[in-house]
Amino acid sequence: MASEKPKRGVPHATNKVHFACFACRKSFKQMGSSNWDHEVPQRPFPCPECKRPMVRLGRYFKAPRKHAVRKWREVEALYAAGARFD
Ligand SMILES: [Zn+2]
Repeated sequence: MASEKPKRGVPHATNKVHFACFACRKSFKQMGSSNWDHEVPQRPFPCPECKRPMVRLGRYFKAPRKHAVRKWREVEALYAAGARFD
């Protein structure tokens, strides 16, 4: 009987994409999201705090500290201008 072992090194179709809530100045990773595989549908991802839909910022987004209000404003302005961190 051949036992089925989990395959190592097999690329995953998905990765973790950073989402952020500008209202709460928080960022989360969404499991099972993908920023390159378009077969993976984008799911709505409400903020756990305020339940507003979070914005999808991409894989390489690094959230500023919660108290860095000016930094968050910059990120929000970048997002509004179409910047993504894929
Ligand atoms: Zn929020």
